[in-house]
Amino acid sequence: MYADIIIDISRNELDKTFQYRVPETLACAAVPGAPVVVPFGSRKISGFIVGLSETPKIDESRIKDILSVPEKSEKVEGHLIALAAWMAEHYGSTLNQALKTVLPIKKKEAPKQKKTIVLNVPLEKAKAEYIDFVSRKRHSVPKERLFSAILENNMIPWDFAVQKLAIPSTAIRDLEKKAIVRIETSRDYRNPVKAEGQTNAAGNIILNEEQEKAYNAFASDWDEGLRKTYLLYGVTGSGKTEVYIRMIEKALSEGRQAIVLIPEIALTYQTLMRFYSRFGDKVSVIHSRLTPGERTDQFDRAKAGEISIMIGPRSALFTPFPDTGIIIIDEEQENAYKSEQAPRYHARETAEKLASLTGSALVLGSATPSLEAMAKAKAGEYTLLTMEHRVSERPLAKATVVDMREELKKGNRSVLSRPLEAALNDRLARHEQAMLFLNRRGMMGFISCRSCGAVIKCPHCDVSLSLHRDGRLHCHYCGYSQENVKACPACGSKYIGSFKAGTEKVEEFLQQKYPAARILRMDADTTKGKEGHEAILSAFANREADILLGTQMIVKGHDFADVTLMGILAADMSLNASDFRSGERTFDLLTQAAGRAGRGTSPGEVIIQTYQPENYAIAAAAAQDYERFFKEESSFRRLMKYPPYSHMLQVQLLGADRQKLAAGAQALYGLMAASDATLFLMKPTDARIAKINDVYRMVIYAKDDDYERLVALKDAVVVSLQERRELARYGMTVFFDFDPMGGF
Ligand code: ADP
Ligand code: ZN
Ligand code: ZN
Repeated sequence: MYADIIIDISRNELDKTFQYRVPETLACAAVPGAPVVVPFGSRKISGFIVGLSETPKIDESRIKDILSVPEKSEKVEGHLIALAAWMAEHYGSTLNQALKTVLPIKKKEAPKQKKTIVLNVPLEKAKAEYIDFVSRKRHSVPKERLFSAILENNMIPWDFAVQKLAIPSTAIRDLEKKAIVRIETSRDYRNPVKAEGQTNAAGNIILNEEQEKAYNAFASDWDEGLRKTYLLYGVTGSGKTEVYIRMIEKALSEGRQAIVLIPEIALTYQTLMRFYSRFGDKVSVIHSRLTPGERTDQFDRAKAGEISIMIGPRSALFTPFPDTGIIIIDEEQENAYKSEQAPRYHARETAEKLASLTGSALVLGSATPSLEAMAKAKAGEYTLLTMEHRVSERPLAKATVVDMREELKKGNRSVLSRPLEAALNDRLARHEQAMLFLNRRGMMGFISCRSCGAVIKCPHCDVSLSLHRDGRLHCHYCGYSQENVKACPACGSKYIGSFKAGTEKVEEFLQQKYPAARILRMDADTTKGKEGHEAILSAFANREADILLGTQMIVKGHDFADVTLMGILAADMSLNASDFRSGERTFDLLTQAAGRAGRGTSPGEVIIQTYQPENYAIAAAAAQDYERFFKEESSFRRLMKYPPYSHMLQVQLLGADRQKLAAGAQALYGLMAASDATLFLMKPTDARIAKINDVYRMVIYAKDDDYERLVALKDAVVVSLQERRELARYGMTVFFDFDPMGGF
């Protein structure tokens, strides 16, 4: 037996492994991830096993023996290294990229003095001062910017003010002198959870019958020493978080640690607080706002045993706990669990591997499980735990579908259908809260010509520009903006404009229609500041508004007891994306949206506006019928050979010159077809967005039931790209994605 060994992981040139012989006496101990001591030149050095094989790669006489396998030394890193080796192979990245993803960055930053500018007077007083200030004829503009940013966010980081808002420090010091703001410095940032908010001591919740049943299934496996993978399929509001908490308590009581993945920290603030109020200081959090140094800091605490629960996005999977016992992935169907950089790993699959390396249980939770997870559960690979009812028997909201084509026929051109308008009137009169969900910010704000149908597009990207309140047209991909047009650039017609509306437009419309209503808007524009999300969500939770209008952000995870109406303004918007997962995504979004209404004591109502009421994803979501959706979707995927019933390799091709790229794509396609003649290959086509930032994009797909065959194809393409000179002249950059999550 031979072992591939990686030596000195701190070195940059990581991609090289060395082969050593495994002596009989060490055969049991020499497993992937195990630390080893080997002869290297004239020295003895330590390394890790990343793989085993039975064939020597070089002349056998030159292969040396492993000297020893130390008991534990760096066991934690051993697991992670074995995981990285698996990721590199499974996702077709280099070992170097995989190790960099998995291992914490060693370089320590000097502890940075963080300065924050904090509002020092009550908000109303500050507003009054602000109004007074801007009414002065010759007030300073940077100071006004600072003032309004502070009013909006209560606090802003000093660096952000100086670098991003371009506010001179003298202006800041000036407001400090007037005692409107104060400057706070914090040296160390030990526990980011604390900075997130206050705790509220929650009483111990008694699990209901369904929760109890789900938990017991897990607990009895656990007691028998079984560490399985579970799919906790529970409708929205069925109390999944409470079940996770009990499972974690179980693992913790035996001295193990827990990793909890949640899709997007900023949006699941409430969930975070529930963990924190239960486990207090044992919890830590990593999120995208931490610097690499702060992240390393949290990882060091995990390694040292100072904390036992790590909550975070997919990268929290790599927390170097000494003895991980349970991994939880909440909302496992979310796209955010797939990395967009090499290695393009999926957290669910990677967690499965990690669970087997560490002997952990894995719990996947969702109200709308991914096809991948449900297919495995149905096949018996995962243990299915089902919770069909909401906590306290609160009924699911009643859903109605409104056909917008009929509305148009009846002469209603408004974004609100008559039923939705009536329902809104009713809620406003009864002082109940409503949420309105508009798919994708600005997506509908595009400008088109009524005479010739031309759409105004970004000159650098293949997407339409959208009209913002500043009166200009903006590109959401590259940031380009231009003045609005008065006539059609294609035909000269004056009848050009924005006929459909983004969130801003809808907000304006609603405000005009309901002058007395208090409306909050939540989208990428209104949540830019650090506290943006929380400020809007807590204002709505405190009933400071009647209507919350927003994008995807309002749909997931939030628990507002007083919302009795959810209006979905255009259910189809995610359906038309040219991507085989768009049905799944639409079903997920609509089900989640419907799950927001009626979570308190009053029953909820959902109104789904659509141009395609007969579409199965929309119809199944309206009926809140996951089984029906799963049946339709899985037969479609089987028929078309899409994941999870087959596998798919997406080859992404980028280039600055359109002609050269098309020729290069064709050449590569020819090579691929020649390297595996019977494989199902799709001819190169333009990507869904054919140009971003002046870079052209094309794509080639390969499909096969055998994942390994696609890996072999990818390896062959990489070799061709390295060895064939003629390919270089096309100036192409090539990326690979296995079982992709998004259209490209
Ligand atoms: P899900 O994540 O399944 O959508 P949550 O975990 O958010 O559901 O739970 C919904 C609400 O029900 C939360 O406010 C939670 O505190 C509450 N809850 C959960 N379990 C119980 C229980 N056994 N008894 C009373 N309330 C509960
Ligand atoms: Zn025109
Ligand atoms: Zn652009």
